[in-house]
Amino acid sequence: MTAQPLAGVRPTVAAFGSVDGELAVGGIPVSRLAERVGSTPFFAYDRELITGRVAQLRAALPDRVQLSYAVKANPMPAVVQHLATLVDSLDVASAREMRAALDTPLAATHVSFAGPGKTDAEITQAVAAGVTIEMESATEAARVVSAGERLGLRPRVAVRVNPDFQVKGSGMRMGGGPQQFGIDAEQVPALLADLAAADVDLLGYHVFAGSQNLNASIIAEAQRKTVDLVLALAERTPWPVRYLNLGGGFGIPYFDRDRPLELQAVGDNLADLVHARIDPHLPDARVVIELGRYLVGEAGVYVTRVVDRKVSRGRTYLVVDGGMHHQLAASGNFGQVIRRNYPVVVGNRMAEAPTETVTVVGCLCTPLDLLGDGVELPPADVGDLVVLFQAGAYGLTASPTAFLGHPEPVEVLV
Ligand SMILES: *Cc1c(COP(=O)(O)O)cnc(C)c1O
Repeated sequence: MTAQPLAGVRPTVAAFGSVDGELAVGGIPVSRLAERVGSTPFFAYDRELITGRVAQLRAALPDRVQLSYAVKANPMPAVVQHLATLVDSLDVASAREMRAALDTPLAATHVSFAGPGKTDAEITQAVAAGVTIEMESATEAARVVSAGERLGLRPRVAVRVNPDFQVKGSGMRMGGGPQQFGIDAEQVPALLADLAAADVDLLGYHVFAGSQNLNASIIAEAQRKTVDLVLALAERTPWPVRYLNLGGGFGIPYFDRDRPLELQAVGDNLADLVHARIDPHLPDARVVIELGRYLVGEAGVYVTRVVDRKVSRGRTYLVVDGGMHHQLAASGNFGQVIRRNYPVVVGNRMAEAPTETVTVVGCLCTPLDLLGDGVELPPADVGDLVVLFQAGAYGLTASPTAFLGHPEPVEVLV
């Protein structure tokens, strides 16, 4: 089936298209997809949208810049497998994510393991696998060295640097000032001295300044400062730098007033940096941008079914069979300061005009379980499918699924 364009809706919604007056996911009308899945609620990820997003990135970024997928955004094995055919490398943050990455055709040398608090067991598995360990502290560095000695292997490592600058405008700041992430830039020379006699393969540096940034000029500035910082560190590194992970932080528009990131502006700045700074000074470095939500966030929907419709003192409620236990972020409880609505539609009534204002709530017995506050929708009744967008990243695995004890939803890649 070929999806038809959808008019008059936000780009995130329009990207899915419609078939027979219904929202299409992977070209399949959502009510048919619900029959195929066999139960609601469920998450559906659109393969073509993920493929298209990677293609946009490839077109906008300079050839020398490689793409890494941050698995924690969506670790569903089928999604990870699909992305492994499209990107250059995978970034994992736990042993379980590492197993998902190692199950793909990508070589272990193209898997990196970041994140604070890596245990001895995780470090041992990572060294044995041959993935690149992004060391977040001096303690972790010592653990890596001893794991390598014990296994008789030379660990592949990079230093995650907590930069000496901060990035404004990030939804989540993960670099600059005091941080649990990375090793403070000014402590790196001492770490290098400690590692001088150790049998590790020090590949280079990783700087991740923040997440969910929609401002191209701020991302560009962070990348410039990151390159400056790594060039300064490279002068004090006794080996050629072979790995430069510039982080990512590309944001996606969750709310009505969010404007999409101007990707080409980021790409143009990177092209300048590669040409003027990286090519001449770091000729041997594999240059990487690592992205999570930008690759998958907009490709996913959370599909719920209306189980009740009621009017309380003039306000109309649609009660759906899903909720914040599956899609916490849509309820506004995943780090948001002010709750705003994620895009929401009645998936089986895309051809009908929105004529009423309703409150969409989940099935949990808490007022926190609010999915759409005063949203305009076509009249919906029991059995209709309410679809929430921006569910491809930090959805199911970032939600408290055990809360209230409802069954786990199915996930499909379509
Ligand atoms: C979480 C994380 C990412 C992905 O962040 P997004 O906002 O999803 O792009 C990338 N790198 C590191 C080190 C992370 O911890």
